[in-house]
Amino acid sequence: MSETVNTFEAQQQGRPTGPLVRGYEVIIGFETHAQLSTASKIFSRASTAFGAEPNTQACAVDLALPGTLPVMNKGAVERAIKLGLALGSHIAPRSVFARKNYFYPDLPKGYQISQFEIPVVQGGAVSFFLGEEKKTVRLVRAHLEEDAGKSLHEDFIGQSGIDLNRAGTPLLEIVTEPDMRSTAEAVAYAKELHKIVTWIGICDGNMQEGSFRCDANVSVRKPGDKLGTRREIKNLNSFKFMQQAIDYEINSQIDELEDGRAIEQATVLFDPATGETRTMRTKEDAADYRYFPDPDLPPLSIAADWIERVKATMPELPRATAERYVRDHGLSEYDAAQLTQSAALAAYFDDAVNAGATPKLASNWITGEMARA
Ligand code: ADP
Ligand code: MG
Repeated sequence: MSETVNTFEAQQQGRPTGPLVRGYEVIIGFETHAQLSTASKIFSRASTAFGAEPNTQACAVDLALPGTLPVMNKGAVERAIKLGLALGSHIAPRSVFARKNYFYPDLPKGYQISQFEIPVVQGGAVSFFLGEEKKTVRLVRAHLEEDAGKSLHEDFIGQSGIDLNRAGTPLLEIVTEPDMRSTAEAVAYAKELHKIVTWIGICDGNMQEGSFRCDANVSVRKPGDKLGTRREIKNLNSFKFMQQAIDYEINSQIDELEDGRAIEQATVLFDPATGETRTMRTKEDAADYRYFPDPDLPPLSIAADWIERVKATMPELPRATAERYVRDHGLSEYDAAQLTQSAALAAYFDDAVNAGATPKLASNWITGEMARA
């Protein structure tokens, strides 16, 4: 990954490793929660369908009733394997579930089942073009975990309702290295990751329904300095808000530093109404969650032949499809990129060509008239 090496050298030499904003370098790392498209929950048989009446899809396991035990959903593991294969990651032959302990009314067990020390997917990278430039963002890991329920503050006066339908919904949390250097690069990364998870069919990608939510960790520094203190913007569920929130956060951190104040590590929320971020809590550390291996679940074993079986079901990936369009159909890089915006669009183009359409004409029509319609 030459980009990363160049970044490292520039940093060593005190040169900027990315475009400057008011004389500061911007550093961004993402944690993305992709909801896995299984019919049932990660550790129970309750349905994951969206939009049901509150608490009609929460079974005894999701309610944490005494005597219940979690049972791993194989389909969720299979989807994690697919992501690892798509991103060139190491798929751990043995990974471990851990309890992340905290109290919140929408978390009946008092802990979330997640993975901590040994996640199922390790390393890998997401590559994409930002204009003409190829960018590579390294992944730290992707781990399986369950979602929590939801508090409903609007429906009851002076009270909060709890809807546990979402409790136990399977999530894959995908964590990057702090490799991004601008808002535009961060949004392009999120779009590329969104494209990949929907393309390989592990997540429906519906951002309004919360199926794909990003936490953006943002810090700024003078070129050559060590990493600055980061603030984490939670739950960004639209690319437009993502861009607004990160831009706002960069400028407010620079304002703070220019006023001679230090950045306090915090978790913040973006308010689309004001276009501002505000502090939700000063950031807790991993130690605060008292992680420990979950004694209710054995370590997750993934045999090599399971990985091979999943590999056989993998579709051609967007980059390979685009390269094929350039090579076999003589399309431009630009047209190929347009046609591989989604698996459905690419499949439609393939069908048209297979039915006898001239590739260039079909491409023009699909990306032009059809896309407009
Ligand atoms: P935690 O699990 O407590 O949120 P991590 O160290 O695992 O903390 O980092 C979470 C995310 O924050 C990762 O995506 C990482 O790349 C990013 N990150 C870490 N340090 C910085 C920093 N100084 N500036 C921006 N992002 C950062
Ligand atoms: Mg975090």
